[in-house]
Amino acid sequence: MNAHELPAEEKSLQTHELLNKEYKRLKLESRRAPMHELISTMLSHRTNHADEEKAYYTMLEHFGDWEGVMNADVNELADTIQTTRYPGQKAPQIQQVLRTIKEERGEISIDFLADMPVEEAMAWLTGLPGVGLKTATLLLLFNFKKPVLPVDTHVFRVSQRVGLIGARVTANKAHAVLLDMLPKDAEELFNFHKHLFWHGQRICTFYSPTCEKCVLNRICNYYQDVREKGVD
Ligand code: SF4
Repeated sequence: MNAHELPAEEKSLQTHELLNKEYKRLKLESRRAPMHELISTMLSHRTNHADEEKAYYTMLEHFGDWEGVMNADVNELADTIQTTRYPGQKAPQIQQVLRTIKEERGEISIDFLADMPVEEAMAWLTGLPGVGLKTATLLLLFNFKKPVLPVDTHVFRVSQRVGLIGARVTANKAHAVLLDMLPKDAEELFNFHKHLFWHGQRICTFYSPTCEKCVLNRICNYYQDVREKGVD
């Protein structure tokens, strides 16, 4: 079979099925409270998980609660999150986000998003400073079980190599392009996201994908192109 001839919609569903078999299916359960998820995701930009967690807990321990963080001296706040990358940029963004939430909702909570339609919730979140599509989709899927698809670097790379999205599709556009081809069900999208993420971390790595071990190689454009050129 020529992988390039398989329509992207069909290929997406086959990818989903093959990775469902390869990796354990997960139940979609919120791992952290919504405000925790929002601020942690902002802290996680270009930062590993251990350093992000360290910053999060140091910050809250130091300032006590979200009001304390919001009213803190911005340089002092930056000091408490210095295990993350770009603390000087993240500190004012976090304060601005907290202020916006407080001004608009009267309290520092985003639980109201549970009752908001998906598109409206996406627009509201991405209107916050420092909150992009990835953060918004992670939050809406993981915490509110809304049918959206977070596309991080691993999901993007695997999708592009297999041929679910074209070479010109940007990471931001990939959210909508992939979502359009997948079941609009939060648990399915959660598993698709997690499985592609793991696959990108373990098998389809950036520098040396182990294609011979990959369950997707039969339908993968990259694999077929590399084999045709005889370099594998
Ligand atoms: S066959 Fe290779 S390039 Fe294609 S998804 Fe698998 S590891 Fe990635």
